[in-house]
Amino acid sequence: MNNEQRKARQRDAFGARTDGTVTIVEPTLDSLEPNYDDRCEVCDASPTVEGWRHGRAVVKWHLCGPCCLGSARMLDPREWNE
Ligand SMILES: [Zn+2]
Repeated sequence: MNNEQRKARQRDAFGARTDGTVTIVEPTLDSLEPNYDDRCEVCDASPTVEGWRHGRAVVKWHLCGPCCLGSARMLDPREWNE
């Protein structure tokens, strides 16, 4: 399985959808948390977005806030759970 297939499968498994850029809807996650040890595979920014549930990361996108969530405002992790 290549990376794209793995990511598509993750999105399916977690009920997310894409609209060409990447718009992610995560009803099953408690929160989105920053991972400062990872870098965005698109633009090399840090931190990247992780989806947390029950106190642990259950999905990692390897994308920064703006690339994952589709808005420049999402550079700030404090905006992710608004
Ligand atoms: Zn990025």
